[in-house]
Amino acid sequence: MDKIQMTTPLVEMDGDEMTRILWKMIKEELLLPFIDLNTEYYDLGLKYRNETEDQVTIEAAEATKKYGVAVKCATITPNHARMEEYNLKKMYKSPNGTIRAILDGTVFRAPIVVKGIEPCVRNWKKPITIARHAYGDIYKNTEFYVDKPGKAELIYTSEDGEEKRALIHEFTSPGVVMGMHNMEASIASFARSCFNYALDTKQDVWFGAKDTISKTYDGKFKAVFQKIFEEEFREKFDAAGLTYFFSLIDDIVARVMKAEGGFIWACKNYDGDVMSDMVSSAFGSLAMMTSVLVSPQGYYEYEAAHGTVQRHYYRYMEGKETSTNSVATIFAWTGALRKRGELDGNAALMDFADKLEKATLSTIESGKMTKDLASITSLKHPKVLSSRDFILAVRSTLEGMMS
Ligand code: NAP
Ligand code: MG
Repeated sequence: MDKIQMTTPLVEMDGDEMTRILWKMIKEELLLPFIDLNTEYYDLGLKYRNETEDQVTIEAAEATKKYGVAVKCATITPNHARMEEYNLKKMYKSPNGTIRAILDGTVFRAPIVVKGIEPCVRNWKKPITIARHAYGDIYKNTEFYVDKPGKAELIYTSEDGEEKRALIHEFTSPGVVMGMHNMEASIASFARSCFNYALDTKQDVWFGAKDTISKTYDGKFKAVFQKIFEEEFREKFDAAGLTYFFSLIDDIVARVMKAEGGFIWACKNYDGDVMSDMVSSAFGSLAMMTSVLVSPQGYYEYEAAHGTVQRHYYRYMEGKETSTNSVATIFAWTGALRKRGELDGNAALMDFADKLEKATLSTIESGKMTKDLASITSLKHPKVLSSRDFILAVRSTLEGMMS
């Protein structure tokens, strides 16, 4: 069988721990036998990020601007424990944060729905797509610890010398302070991405923020969404029979639990981070959630919504068997390959992506799955496979479909 050719390279960002192990298996078993894989490889594993003082992350994001489509493995965001574990020169920022700061845009996360895995929220009948604003707020913050009494202030100096100053807190004892920002243009492109994606996928948009408490900051998010909706989207939404709905974030959370799904939930950066984990686990598993960053310029970065699955990795390193779910990582690859195919007019590549997704789902529907799914499936007598054996089972289903 001739391998599928690729004209433009895909930006490949390797990562850490268990997902790095899965990454290699997916390439070897599910991609390289079928595709003449053309990627520009960037090693975002923490060891190499440290060697390059995180320059590699910036280069990978720049390459995504050059080629348009990237696929990324989960990566460690260093904390104090990782500083020691990897003997780091600095506590680097989250690679995702760095990439999103360079590409801007919105992260759309939707559960991968498969027969036999029912959502644990009874009334959820359709996928809930989380649209996460991918710029700013606490992900690009400045913060420090103050160890003695003193005054913390917020100061802004405009280019022409005007100063704004506000008291944050008069400290009488030690504490913590943080400054963060967002940009009107980024909020506007977030709003446009959500409304466009809603029209593309024929879903309503819900958006929640805390504008009662944060009257200026969250108030700006609410106002920008409303203005863009009225000026650019209301007519199109009316014509498509769709709605846009804003409410307080607490009210939205309560309504989401009672809804039947099938809408886009627009979330500020932090809300999207947290709520996507809740939504994905309620739909089945963290490993059954796709994630794509769509920039306003039309650059795409596909990844899994979960982390590096550290606990499984430590078991793996002890030589013990693991049963880590590779579905979201497989779907990161298929999403990226399909988009690359779409942009290059490469029908064979798009068709391959469809087949690999189908092979993955039908493997699960036939009862072969990893432990996380086996523990929640409604299928009788599921067969629990190891990390590698699941990928091999998908390969065998795929080979059947390809021949
Ligand atoms: P995590 O890697 O998502 O894993 C948390 C737990 O969820 C796992 O221990 C596992 O539960 C379950 N899980 C997640 N993915 C799974 C999969 N594919 N198959 C089976 N079970 C899965 O989150 P974390 O442990 O909090 O974070 C580990 C590292 O990942 C951290 O260093 C963090 O910085 C990084 N991280 C990266 C990204 C990213 O790059 N996008 C996102 C989040 C976190 P059991 O152990 O109970 O089986
Ligand atoms: Mg998260």
